[in-house]
Amino acid sequence: MDFYNLKKDFNLIHGPCSLESFEQMDEIVSELKGISKIFRAGAYKPRTSPESFQGLKKEGLNILSDIKKENDVFICSEILSINDLEYFKDVDIIQIGARNMQNFELIKEVAKLNKPILLKRGFGNTVEELIASTEYILKEGNDKIILCERGIRTFSNTSRFTLDLSAVGYLKDNTDFLVYVDPSHAGGHHKEVKRLAKAAFAYGCDGMLIEVHPNPKEAMSDNLQQLEIDEYKELINDLKL
Ligand code: PEP
Ligand code: MN
Repeated sequence: MDFYNLKKDFNLIHGPCSLESFEQMDEIVSELKGISKIFRAGAYKPRTSPESFQGLKKEGLNILSDIKKENDVFICSEILSINDLEYFKDVDIIQIGARNMQNFELIKEVAKLNKPILLKRGFGNTVEELIASTEYILKEGNDKIILCERGIRTFSNTSRFTLDLSAVGYLKDNTDFLVYVDPSHAGGHHKEVKRLAKAAFAYGCDGMLIEVHPNPKEAMSDNLQQLEIDEYKELINDLKL
């Protein structure tokens, strides 16, 4: 992937929270590749409860490789452990999720692959701590960094997390990195996700990460917040990108 092309336009990274099957991903890609060719799907899932679906793991990454080859699209997926690094060869953008924003050993090893990294802000971390984590990536000679504001914990319980839009402005003013917003995990409910996406776009983020699923009600993770395909298309139409 030519990372520096990402800097030219507003970009969308979309796809399901969890990769569930080849058919699920194939449908999403054929419906959405006209909007953006960057797809994200989780194969390794960091779930709060060990009883919840943990992802298709290595098999999931194999499915993503097949999807990538057949459709000429880019793939983003989250890594949880250094032990799995070898399986991420075909992944174009490696996600370090909120829970691992300060997992420095993981960050250093992922940085060495010299692929673009989507670094999500921890929900209990300051922007200074997020910036400090980018220094670990830069020290490995990798400057292909996309920062992502995905909501933080506050005393407000009106949404899953509280989207900190001011952090986006701060990061744009104080770093050279792309600054994306994930309205899905911040909003936690599809109605709120759409409102936050419109606000984040108007605010001036460089791109967004949005969860889309062919049948959100049946999704194996984050079923309340994923947008239906038509609902997502309508949102993108409303944004007038
Ligand atoms: C995700 O992107 O699917 C995810 C788990 O998000 P976060 O790391 O922001 O919680
Ligand atoms: Mn999710």
